[in-house]
Amino acid sequence: MTAEGAERAARAFRDAFGAEADGVWTAPGRVNLIGEHTDYNEGFVLPFAIDLAARVAFRARPDGAIRLLSTSGGDGVAELAVSGLDRGSAAGWSVYPAGVVWAFQERGIEVPGFDLVLDSDVPLGAGLSSSHAIECAVATALNEVTGAGLDAEQLVLATQRAENAFVGAPTGIMDQSASLRGRSGHAVFLDCRDQHAELVPFDAAGAGLVTLVVDTRVAHSHADGGYASRRAACELGAEVLGVKALRDVSVEDLEEARALMDAVTFRRVRHVVTEDQRVLDTVAALRASGPAAIAGFLDASHASMRDDFEISCPELDCAVEASRAAGAIGARMTGGGFGGSAIALVPSDDEARVRDAITEAFAERGFRAPRLFTVAPADGARRLA
Ligand code: ADP
Ligand code: MG
Repeated sequence: MTAEGAERAARAFRDAFGAEADGVWTAPGRVNLIGEHTDYNEGFVLPFAIDLAARVAFRARPDGAIRLLSTSGGDGVAELAVSGLDRGSAAGWSVYPAGVVWAFQERGIEVPGFDLVLDSDVPLGAGLSSSHAIECAVATALNEVTGAGLDAEQLVLATQRAENAFVGAPTGIMDQSASLRGRSGHAVFLDCRDQHAELVPFDAAGAGLVTLVVDTRVAHSHADGGYASRRAACELGAEVLGVKALRDVSVEDLEEARALMDAVTFRRVRHVVTEDQRVLDTVAALRASGPAAIAGFLDASHASMRDDFEISCPELDCAVEASRAAGAIGARMTGGGFGGSAIALVPSDDEARVRDAITEAFAERGFRAPRLFTVAPADGARRLA
C-alpha cells in the first residue's frame, strides 16, 4: 500500500507537471481514542495515527512560484508564490500548504518555490484530520528539502502556528502530534500542557479487535457556537476554582467544586476532570492488560460527553448504541462533537454484524446512511520515496 501510494503520487505528479518529483512524503490522519475537550484545558489526550494518509509529491523550483494540485479536487492547479504569502493569497485547500510555508518563513527558514501534487485517502470532514495530514506531509517535506532540521516538537508548533495564524482555526496540538509522532501498533499519549508525548502500545489487531469508525456525515450548524460556549464554561470553572486550567482539578476535588458554581458549569467541569482521569486510566490499562481492557472507559467517555458536556447528537448516540448492542465491546463519539464520527472497538469476528446493525439502525431512524471504515494505528509522517 505504501509503495503503491508513493508511486501513485509520483505518477500524478509526472502527469500534472511533466517532470519527476524530487520525492514523496506522507503524513497520516488520526483518530482520538479517548480524551475529548481536554486539550484546551491543558490535559491529556490519546490519539493514534491511522492507516489513511496524505501523500505529497514535491519538486523544488528555482523561481519562487508554488503550484499545487490535488488528485481528488476539481479545482485544478492553484498558483501562489513563496514571497508575500498571506491568507488572502490562498484559496481552498491551498491554505494548508501555504500556511506551512508561511510558518517556516516566520521561523526564518528560506523556502524555495515548488510544484506539489497531493494524493490523500483521508476522508474529508469525517473528523480524521484530513487537513492536518496535508499540513504535516508538507511540513515534513519542507523540513527535509530546506535542511531546517526541525524536531517533532518544533514541527508540531509550526503546523499549529499555520492553523491558528494563517488558516484561522483555533486548534490545539493533538492532531499534528498524532500525525507526526504516531507509530504502528501504538497510540500517542500526549500531555497538552507541556507537549510531553509517550507511545503506548495499542495493538488492536493482536487482541483480535478492530477500530470501526462511523462517520455520521452530520455537521451540526451549532458546532462553532457550541465549541465556544464549552470553552467559556471551562474557563469559568477554572477561574472559580482558582486554577490555571481544569487540568489542575482532580476527581476528588469535584464534590467541593459542585457548591461553587452553577449546575451547568459544574457538569462541564466534571466532564473534563473525569475525562482526564479516563485517559490516564486507559493508558494504564493498555500498558497492563491490552486493548480489550479499555472498553469501559470508552463507554464512560461517551456517557460523559452525552450527559455532562452535551456535545453528542442523535446520530452519534445511535452509532454508539447500535454498535454496542451488536457486539462492540466499547464505543464513543470522537472529535469535537455535534456530529462527525464515533469509534467502536469490535471483535474482528463481529465486524460485519456490527456494520450491518449500524447501517440498519440509521435507516430505521431515518438518518442519512453513515460511512463506515476500520482504522489501525500506523506510522507517522515520513519520506516514502
Ligand atoms: P478534517 O480535517 O476533520 O478532515 P477540515 O474541515 O479541517 O476537516 O479539513 C477539510 C479540508 O481539507 C477540506 O475542506 C479541504 O480544503 C482539505 N482537504 C483535505 N483532503 C483534501 C484532498 N485530498 N484534496 C484537497 N483538499 C483536501
Ligand atoms: Mg481539520
